[in-house]
Amino acid sequence: MPALKSDTLDTVGEILHTAEQRLQEAGIGTPRLDAEVLLAAALETSRAALLTDVDREVTPVQREAFNAWMDRRVQREPVAYILGFKEFWSLDFQVTPEVLIPRPDTECLIEHFLSLVKRDAVTAPRILDVGTGSGVLAVVAARECPDATITAMELSHRALEVARSNAATHNVASQIQFVQGDFHREFWEGAPFDFILSNPPYIDHVSYETLAPEIQQYEPKQALDGGADGLDAYRKIIPLAAMLLKPGGSLVLEFGNDQGPEVNRLVAESAAFETIERVADYSGAERVLSAKRRQV
Ligand code: GLN
Repeated sequence: MPALKSDTLDTVGEILHTAEQRLQEAGIGTPRLDAEVLLAAALETSRAALLTDVDREVTPVQREAFNAWMDRRVQREPVAYILGFKEFWSLDFQVTPEVLIPRPDTECLIEHFLSLVKRDAVTAPRILDVGTGSGVLAVVAARECPDATITAMELSHRALEVARSNAATHNVASQIQFVQGDFHREFWEGAPFDFILSNPPYIDHVSYETLAPEIQQYEPKQALDGGADGLDAYRKIIPLAAMLLKPGGSLVLEFGNDQGPEVNRLVAESAAFETIERVADYSGAERVLSAKRRQV
């Protein structure tokens, strides 16, 4: 005789249906996906496994965990902060509200950087990551280039702790030196560099006001706010890179929508650089620029 469904326990399918409606009413753009991701996490299973068993009953304890997360999501807290991690380059990175949640766009910076390492046949590259945040650029660069040594700089102490923890999790702590500080350093560990990488804050003040609540209310302003025109960080990084790169070394920068020509202009104005290239992200929008330090 088949087991009777209990009267008190809801199934995965029923819970997802109600949760999707609740998230939709709260104005969440991806209600079904978010409900599935949060319920899968509450049941400590994968989303794929969750969906193959929609008649599974959910225990009160699991239900309680899920409801608490749903309450946070309704308040527009990002799923990545609720779960405490985000996937990037097929690796799970710890994230806290002290760090920007890694975006898929930034994988294009990594791809372009790796193509330059290969093209220029650089061995044992020395790399500086300016504003490492959760550490994604430093950690992925270290994993993809096991002979690289990396200096990862970050202003926020608490972000640096997250980056350190991600480096340890992904077994690259020995390749990365973490440095707390800003641009005004007297001594640069690891300099001169073959590569300087950065995904700096680049949102201008007008655009900042129009960001989704998930970003504006929850992500660190310091990681997003690029000043009145969004270009403040580039004005600091470009002269720094001119000073710290080896001749023939490359600066690789992420930038915001429609900022390509402006960032290109700032780099071109510095006589230190040549061979400026701009590459698009997966959506086809220009997202990354690289420039070579001129031979002196
Ligand atoms: N890409 C991020 C966003 O659109 C901004 C990241 C940044 O400023 N570096 O929210």
